[in-house]
Amino acid sequence: MQAVPTDSLDQAAAPYKLPELPYGFKDLSPVIDETTMHLHHDKHHQAYTDGINAALSKHPEWHGIDIEEVLGRLSELPMDIREAVRNQGGGYANHKLFWKVLTPFGSGIPPVDLTMRMNRDFGSFDCFRKRFVKAGRDLFGSGWVFLAADPAEEFSLKVIPTSNQDSVVSRGYVALLACDVWEHAYYLKYNNRRGDWLDAWWDIVDWRYVAERLDSARVARSAG
Ligand code: MN
Repeated sequence: MQAVPTDSLDQAAAPYKLPELPYGFKDLSPVIDETTMHLHHDKHHQAYTDGINAALSKHPEWHGIDIEEVLGRLSELPMDIREAVRNQGGGYANHKLFWKVLTPFGSGIPPVDLTMRMNRDFGSFDCFRKRFVKAGRDLFGSGWVFLAADPAEEFSLKVIPTSNQDSVVSRGYVALLACDVWEHAYYLKYNNRRGDWLDAWWDIVDWRYVAERLDSARVARSAG
């Protein structure tokens, strides 16, 4: 299934680069502490960046393609690198999205158009948040929780947990928002209390950017 492009102004193609943060390492404090930010960005995200580049180094025909499109076409990848791209490319893309959906200036609530869609698909913004937090708490092991839009259903909204570094993009959805629930994302500050991390992170979600992602996916679909 073809991925719907979401980030046309911010595409990344191999060889991939570790994106710079759009804020300082201290700026998301107290929700995310500075040490966690450095480890998470400089070490973990760097390792996924190196991993996807190593996987694709033998297959230059996959260079020059945005990571979301690559993840949307996993089944077309050569077998010898498919699993590496799923894990390393997923980790690269998920973290790239994660940094972008965060901001030191969280608005707390989504713009009105996105709120109305949440009311339609979840009942209310509050119901959405509860469902999202529950999905993260219930996820066994490491993974992510996404707010995704389904282009096959007029971009209806869904909460989708995934294991490891799997991306909803590989299932044909548009990734709007992603919360990292690997222990490396929260353990220094929240220890084993994953639910506390999920409750706290709403303060730094950049809802305007999340809404922009949905808008650009809808525009891309109607143009294509
Ligand atoms: Mn992570």
